[in-house]
Amino acid sequence: MGQSAGVRTTCPYCGVGCGVLAKPQPDGSVTIKADPAHPANFGRLCSKGTALGETLGLEGRLLHPHVDGRRSSWDEALSLVAQRFHSAVARHGPDSVAFYVSGQLLTEDYYAANKLMKGFLGSANIDTNSRLCMASAVAAHKRAFGADTVPGCYEDLEVADLVVVVGSNMAWCHPVLFQRLAAARERNGTQVVVIDPRRTATCEIADLHLAIAPGSDVALFSGLLAHLADSGQLDEAFIAAHTSGLDAALAEARSLSRDDIARLTGLDAADIAAFYELFAATERTVTAFSQGVNQSTAGTDKANAIINCHLATGRIGKPGAAPFSITGQPNAMGGREVGGLANMLAAHMEIGDEAHRSIVRDFWRAPGIPEQPGLKAVDLFRAVAEGRIKALWIMATNPVVSMPEADAVATAIAACPFVVVSDVVRDTDTTRLADVLLPAAAWGEKDGTVTNSERRISRQRAFRPLPGEARPDWWIVAEVARRMGFADAFAWRGPADIFAEHARLSAAGNGGTRDFDIGAYADIDDEGFAALAPFQWPARQPSLSPSLRGEGEGEGQRQTHPDEARGLPSPLRGGDGGGGRKKDRSPSPTPTPDPSPRPCGAWLRHEGGGEGCGGAVQLFSDGRFFTPDGKARFVVTPFRAPASTASAEYPLVLNTGRVRDQWHTMTRTGLSPRLNAHLSEPFVEIHPDDAADRGIADADLAEVTTTHGRVVVRALLTTRQRRGALFVPMHWNATNASLARVGALVCGATDPVSGQPEMKASVARIARFEASWHAFAVLDREPSGIETDYWVKARAKGGWRLELAGVAAPEDWTHFARGLLAAGRDGIELLAYHDAASGRYRFAAFDGDRLAGAIFIAREPVAVSRAWAASQLCEPEIEPRRRLQLLAGRPGAETKDAGAIVCACFEVGLNTIIEAVTSGGCLSVEAVGAALKAGTNCGSCRSEIARIIADRRLVKAG
Ligand code: SF4
Repeated sequence: MGQSAGVRTTCPYCGVGCGVLAKPQPDGSVTIKADPAHPANFGRLCSKGTALGETLGLEGRLLHPHVDGRRSSWDEALSLVAQRFHSAVARHGPDSVAFYVSGQLLTEDYYAANKLMKGFLGSANIDTNSRLCMASAVAAHKRAFGADTVPGCYEDLEVADLVVVVGSNMAWCHPVLFQRLAAARERNGTQVVVIDPRRTATCEIADLHLAIAPGSDVALFSGLLAHLADSGQLDEAFIAAHTSGLDAALAEARSLSRDDIARLTGLDAADIAAFYELFAATERTVTAFSQGVNQSTAGTDKANAIINCHLATGRIGKPGAAPFSITGQPNAMGGREVGGLANMLAAHMEIGDEAHRSIVRDFWRAPGIPEQPGLKAVDLFRAVAEGRIKALWIMATNPVVSMPEADAVATAIAACPFVVVSDVVRDTDTTRLADVLLPAAAWGEKDGTVTNSERRISRQRAFRPLPGEARPDWWIVAEVARRMGFADAFAWRGPADIFAEHARLSAAGNGGTRDFDIGAYADIDDEGFAALAPFQWPARQPSLSPSLRGEGEGEGQRQTHPDEARGLPSPLRGGDGGGGRKKDRSPSPTPTPDPSPRPCGAWLRHEGGGEGCGGAVQLFSDGRFFTPDGKARFVVTPFRAPASTASAEYPLVLNTGRVRDQWHTMTRTGLSPRLNAHLSEPFVEIHPDDAADRGIADADLAEVTTTHGRVVVRALLTTRQRRGALFVPMHWNATNASLARVGALVCGATDPVSGQPEMKASVARIARFEASWHAFAVLDREPSGIETDYWVKARAKGGWRLELAGVAAPEDWTHFARGLLAAGRDGIELLAYHDAASGRYRFAAFDGDRLAGAIFIAREPVAVSRAWAASQLCEPEIEPRRRLQLLAGRPGAETKDAGAIVCACFEVGLNTIIEAVTSGGCLSVEAVGAALKAGTNCGSCRSEIARIIADRRLVKAG
């Protein structure tokens, strides 16, 4: 595929790692299409990926360095960072400094940060937001396999006969992978079991949903292990030849009776038995797990309890048979590979292993490699709070929103003597606390690699110029290192140099003893890096095979050094240090034949991709693992309840997670009106009976409180939620909502092995938020300085939409409305409707023929057609007759109200779909798609459409 199709790059959101074709247009916009040739997605993107082009504007970007709130030069900012980190180390020791980095970084950025901290500052205090995502899976892999090896591939999901999805709303969090699974299920009749406390969108394709009690997965899988043994389903030959430790693990598993398991999990005995029998009878089984397993104080044990069942049945290393950790972030895996976690060294080597430290020390020519692991995320910020960290550098992440006990994290960062934040966004909850702000290059501007959940390394490629003074993260780190006296070791010309160095280190002293080895790319040059096609590790071949190169011819442009791109002399050029490309091959890579992997060989039909094989590499197919004896280890996994115990004061359990169309703290997806149209307000899901007990009605505001903080969010009553449980999404923050940072509620208890915090089982209480008034508003300009008790703002086409509420009503509604809709503007005409008796007030403000804003106020949650009202901002002219209609908050009889957006791609609303189902006879997702196009592009909404159809059928039957 040539340049005309666009630049081949990779989506920056979830761990599926979909290939994207990005094509800049003459008007400055960028056309985004799915890459039909990428083996992760074969021509599909989800709603987030599809909307990438809407998130590339410079609005809100951090474009220049800042020191103490004022714009500075790069030289001043970098010199200050170098000087403060140097003086902290000199005065207080290496462990007085810390980096908190991100799975958003490219591997090359990550490599540079890790090298500076662990190789040259002499501390292991570099940890990452991936600690919040999949550290428990890493720890479980290391315990079982002797290395952080993910044994599964996406193709395994497609050739399995049974897929068990544990703790993952795959339909919303890994949508393209979910679509691949759903398509395979259609083709092959794959059985799907979903284990999740909530009945999520993923359950729409489930043959069996086990609504498990939060935190009880170990009990369920221990019972499964015992059942496999008791029913004669163990693979005795595999166990004898390739594993150790079954007896102890089995003895522990048998300590729980079926009654115990039913009590602990809250599941029906019949459902448990059905799951066990299905698993036992199905040879080709994949167990895919994600944050619901990992984000737990028993997360590592949960993952090992799953792996135990696969080892016991020999269901690993075969097509369609694997335990499979699905990562949340686009480059969580890349961070693991370079040692971005505080307890790892580079290239999957161990800090505690002197031989490994020696390899890295020699390779980097580093003055000192720490012998002890550094501080993991939760402990890192506690050390900041205790004043032990004197200089902190946060890169590409927003811990004031995403960390547990987030209010305490904010207080700690605010009190830290010196805080640096590298980011692409000017105003986040975390950048507000920085002493130094460094403008980083964003997606589409930077160049490097990422690794997805199936160990596939893909290129992210630049297709836009660097705006303002933004720079790639690796360059920023290298410049600080240079100013600290380490220029030789950071003398890279570009990301290709770093990738080659990373590849050489992965092969150094390896000889097949370590899983991560990409020595095949040790000599990659700029041209090869530009053309690099997606590949899976390990890739141990000694030289770059032509077959591993991309077939594209020119779509991967060489990324120039940012200063070269500007015609500036590069301060890094001409370096000759240990990190320089082809300057130092010491120690030489010693490529060896890979001992185990082989192609999956499964030829599959991919929609949009034709016949083809992703070339998936199957690990452990020979039954050899990376433990000293080459055997996989069963792990004893005693059941432990979550750290927090429900009480009379906090009787509920709070779960957190993602929604379909937002990513992390919304700094990018929040820019897209389309993505905001799906769920534009933070909410709490609660079972109707729990809500009734507390006098909470659907759409009321509710206050959720834990011992750590509180939020006020919209109540969403649903029987898809278990009794006794709450769910609040993780995305909203202080820049777009008054009080909705769920991280502030979450307890900081961590898994004793992985250090991953328990994000899904904090005890909580909920009460109705007693607002005396509610309002919905649309505005053509971004509102600022909102001072109501409750507010949430979201971008809409043509402006903004706003939810408001207050405890006490303003004295003068007209004054309030004018202040919101017409502040500082001349010539605004205000139209009003008042019904003081019912407490209803409506105002519409017009700037000439156009709508400047409208607000709908009521004593109860406002019932207006929000999508329609917001759409009026785009109307070039609103005639006098329609202005009164606007105050009614609904379209007239001649215009249908589409309702809340379900299909983001074609902007098809809920009401439109309901009408197609009830009046149009569309009783399948395909029929709805044929009638409305909904669900026919990215497919992210297909499970919601299925749910709407099912709900309407129930209504009809009732
Ligand atoms: Fe991006 Fe969606 Fe693919 Fe994830 S599934 S990588 S968010 S397009």
